[in-house]
Amino acid sequence: MYQKYLTGVIGDPVDNNPSAVIEQAAFDAMKLPWQYLILQVKQEKLKDAINGLKALEFVGFNVTMPFKQEIIQYINNISHEAEIIGAVNTVSINNGMLYGENTDGKGFLMALQNEKVSVLGKKIALIGAGGAARAISVELLLAGAKDILIINRSTEHGKKLEADLNSYFPCKAHFCVFNKDIDIPNDIDILVNATSVGFENPNEFPDINYQSLQSKMVVCDVIPNNANTMFLNKAKEKGCKTISGTLMLIYQGALSFNIWTGKKANINIMQNALNNTLFYKK
Ligand code: NDP
Repeated sequence: MYQKYLTGVIGDPVDNNPSAVIEQAAFDAMKLPWQYLILQVKQEKLKDAINGLKALEFVGFNVTMPFKQEIIQYINNISHEAEIIGAVNTVSINNGMLYGENTDGKGFLMALQNEKVSVLGKKIALIGAGGAARAISVELLLAGAKDILIINRSTEHGKKLEADLNSYFPCKAHFCVFNKDIDIPNDIDILVNATSVGFENPNEFPDINYQSLQSKMVVCDVIPNNANTMFLNKAKEKGCKTISGTLMLIYQGALSFNIWTGKKANINIMQNALNNTLFYKK
């Protein structure tokens, strides 16, 4: 029996990681002899795990929490975007050399493109300043967004993202503290929930003033396990076009698939596979 081409995801925790479902479905649909494994790696074992993946001749792997930043020290070549973001979620291995990319923000952009939403010259408000917010804001600015308002609970994280973005894209990022019932300025074109609020508990949503939303705004969520978050539902009630984090998940996975196989993933197959998992709430 031939050895399959091996890929997977490393992280901790990795239970219920949806990437295995969507990537394996895409491999199988194209009859590629590839396998995607869910690999739990303890914090202190990251280096050993990477050496193990090399020894087992993995073609590549995804990286999830808590290793997206820490992995960088083991990468031989990192993409320009991943370097600015400061995190890697997709690694390919070639002759024992590791190449690191970040497909999270690009996946978000592709979800917008899929919905015919352009970011060129647009004003963005982003709630959150963690890894997802960082990846999304870098790709939005690289794609020509006019400026980004970072709304975050902790001043420390918000100011750090503001400073990092402004060092690459001068004067494009502004920070403001996330206070309860905060108004979204009426000149915002695209509003993004890039916090984890709504992930564990589907009844939770960012506590903004939803009355300040305007129907011309496009409202997006990053929450990957629920296409109908309370956040998006509240925006829909105000007449806004909405885009879910499940689409971002699919597209970031499709980009990883392309990096490893050189082929274009079938988005519908990935979407159907995700729809059929318990992880995904329709
Ligand atoms: P981080 O832990 O890096 O950042 C979390 C962010 O959420 C921080 O800005 C934090 O604010 C904020 N936050 C958390 N709880 C609250 C709260 N109760 N009220 C206000 N703000 C809060 O996580 P990530 O950025 O990596 O992930 C964020 C979400 O994005 C997760 O749900 C993850 O699943 C999702 N994600 C989705 C992807 C997709 O493909 N759809 C890809 C990657 C991530 P503070 O700085 O104050 O702590």
